[in-house]
Formats: sequence, C-alpha cells, structure tokens
Amino acid sequence: MKFKQSEKLYNKGLENLVGAVNSPVRAFASVGGNPLFIDKAKGSKIKDVDGNRYIDMVLSYGPMILGHRHKKVEKAISKALKNGYSFGASTNAEIKLAKIVCDAFPGMDKVRFVNSGTEAVLSAIRLARAHTGNDKIIKFSGCYHGHMDAMLVAAGSGLATLSLPGSKGVPSLAVENTLIAEYNNLESVKKHIEENSDIAAVILEPVTGNMGVVQPSDAFIKGLRELTKEHGVLLICDEVMTGFRSKFGGAQELIGIEADITCLGKVIGGGFPVGAYGASNEIMENVAPLGGMYQAGTLSGNPIAMAAGISTLTELKRQNPYEKFEKIAGKIETILLEGAKKYNVDLTVNKFGSMINPFFAAEEVKNFTDAQKCDTDKFAVFFWEMIKNGVFLPPSQFESWFLCSALSDKDVENFEKAVDAAMKMVAGK
Ligand SMILES: *Cc1c(COP(=O)(O)O)cnc(C)c1O
Repeated sequence: MKFKQSEKLYNKGLENLVGAVNSPVRAFASVGGNPLFIDKAKGSKIKDVDGNRYIDMVLSYGPMILGHRHKKVEKAISKALKNGYSFGASTNAEIKLAKIVCDAFPGMDKVRFVNSGTEAVLSAIRLARAHTGNDKIIKFSGCYHGHMDAMLVAAGSGLATLSLPGSKGVPSLAVENTLIAEYNNLESVKKHIEENSDIAAVILEPVTGNMGVVQPSDAFIKGLRELTKEHGVLLICDEVMTGFRSKFGGAQELIGIEADITCLGKVIGGGFPVGAYGASNEIMENVAPLGGMYQAGTLSGNPIAMAAGISTLTELKRQNPYEKFEKIAGKIETILLEGAKKYNVDLTVNKFGSMINPFFAAEEVKNFTDAQKCDTDKFAVFFWEMIKNGVFLPPSQFESWFLCSALSDKDVENFEKAVDAAMKMVAGK
C-alpha cells in the first residue's frame, strides 16, 4: 500500500496549516507516520488521495451515521442550495429540525441551534449559570466537552492522545470554577457538592466516547441524577457524540435518566457544522431574546446545514438501524476478543450501540485512570496494520469507533481478516 500522495500533501500542508490539520485529533501524533489525505467517500467506504479504499469507522468522528453521501441527504442539500446559502433571518427548516429534535428528547421543549459541539457546551454552561445564579461546574476527568477554556482541564479526546493535562493559554481564572470528579465514582461528586454551595451544574458524557467508550454504572448514573436534583444542581448531558447514535434520541433515555440541559452536535448536522442545546421551557426562557442570557450566531441555523440535518434524521428514523448496530457491534466485539485470544494479546472491548472500541489492557476500563493504563504502542501497531488491511480507524487509543447503517456483511468479513492480521502483528508473530 502506497501513501505517496498523502505524504506529498502533508508536506505541502505543513507550510500554511498548523501540523497540516485543522483539528489535532486528525494528526497521527500517537500512532506515528503521516496523516492520510482523503479524496472522497461513499456509503461505508472512504478513499484516500493515493486511491486506497477503506471501511470507514471514523465517520467524521460520528456524524456520518448513514454512511457517506446518502442519496436522500444529497438530494435535500442540492435542493436547499438552489434557494440560497445563508440569510440572517429565520427559515421553516429551523422549525422542522427543532421539532424533530425536541420530539426525540423527553423534557426538551425548546432548542437553540449553534455551529459546533463546542458552542453548544459553552452556551449550555452559560445557561446553567444564568438559571441557577451559581458559577461552579463539575466535570469528569476523561470527558471531552469541546475546547472552551473552562472545559479544557482533565479532558479526553485530543488532549488524552497528546498526553496534555490541559491546554496552554487558558487563564487560571477561567478554570477556577471547574471542579473535577471521577467518572463512575459518585463519592467524588458528593464531596464537591458537600464542600461547595455554589454549584451550577454537573456536565458529563452520559456514555463516554472521548476516553474510549465507557458506560456509567447504574448506581452511578441514577445516584448522580438524584444527588443533583436534591441540591438544586443542574445536570447537563453532553450528547454531542451519543445523540441519535444508539437510539433515535439520547443515550440518557437508554441509561434511564433525564438531563436538565442536553447538548447535541455531530449526527444532527448530517456532516455539516451544527450544534444545539435544549431544555424545558422554564430553563430555555433565560436565553435571549426571551431572557437575559446572550448567545448569538451569524450562521446559526444555516439552511444547508438544516437541510442536511432534517434529511439525515428523517432517513435515520425510517431506517431505524439501531438493532442492526447492536448486532454488528456484537460481531465486532467477538472478532476483536477472539483475535486477541488467538495471539495472546491483552484486550478489553467496550461498546454502546453504534460506538465501540478495544482497549489494549488486561483489566476492565471504567474511568480515565483505567483507560490511561492502555498500551498505546500496541494500539499504534494495530492501527497501521488495520490501515494496510483496509480499515480506517481514529488514530488514537482514546477515541470511539463508529458504525454506520451502510455497513454490509462483506465489510464485517473484511474487518475480521484485518483484525486477524493486526493482532498477529501486535503479538509480534
Ligand atoms: C465532539 C464533541 C464535542 C465538541 O464538538 P465540536 O463540534 O468538535 O466542537 C463536545 N462534546 C462531546 C461529547 C464531543 O464528542
């Protein structure tokens, strides 16, 4: 397999782009080598500029849940394009997408569209502070909530991959109101709540994807909901990744809780830049123009992005691929575990609906500390061998892999062959 053209573009890209990427998760920092440059994609496959074809399990880090360039989505976008790209005024499409989203989340009466997951979270945090009059926020180590200052402590995703404890350039004042707790450890939250009377919200990924996939225990998540309610602390579910991924609606419903504020992104834009935050009428009425919390956006509710979102969610509801996802994820789990066993490689697999990933670790992974014990060198070997065998994965041990509804049985067969080759390589045989 040749990567000549990718290499060429990478070197060219270094000149005027930072590291030749526009998001550090796309750099191959932790797996070595140069990032692949993509030419095009269709269905479950993605093709790089050297003409190599891969089964795509990155799927733009989640959004492409139907696979690439689904016919109906393409048609909706083309139609919207003919009417103009941006107006700075309201359109019917925004109302339609808002209804689809609100209907899918119990307790969500109103939603505000923004342009990214980061924007959704920073707005949700401002909203929690506006509603409660308190400033402090509890977040969990290993959870990633976008790159706003206050959330760039003990964060997963690119920071975990690059082994950064936080980001330079974040003033201490900006994180002074951020308290860190441990995922799946209710006591660590209780302690903060007992010691601080001015907490606005607890924010979490209801199922994590940014330290790899980690599910909350029943006792932890139910306890967290009760504890926050009891103390008048809002619960923010950051479902930017999990929203519409494992059911039509949120992971919070699957794990049996209801958030006060929900953040969305990724899938709801169908590949275009869309984020959203939503809550009950009572909470959302704080937001301007109804209330005194300011939040705005020139391109928010962009008509092309709304068309992509509406058509993606409509088709997703029609296909209802969630049982198929469970089945494929089950197969993939078995393939990974059997491959590891065959070559005597320590492996733990975590999954939730259409999110799955292996950890190169012998022990169960329940939080960020567990995840960090993984053998990232083994992951790097595994990653490159998967690439060479036609499977495109996130270039990090700490990112979830994603399934799309365009995956075929043939894709799963090819995946199995790739895993066998990759595990053999990891074992050094
Ligand atoms: C991706 C992600 C974000 C950030 O979204 P962007 O669109 O990259 O700004 C926030 N929270 C979670 C849980 C995410 O997975």
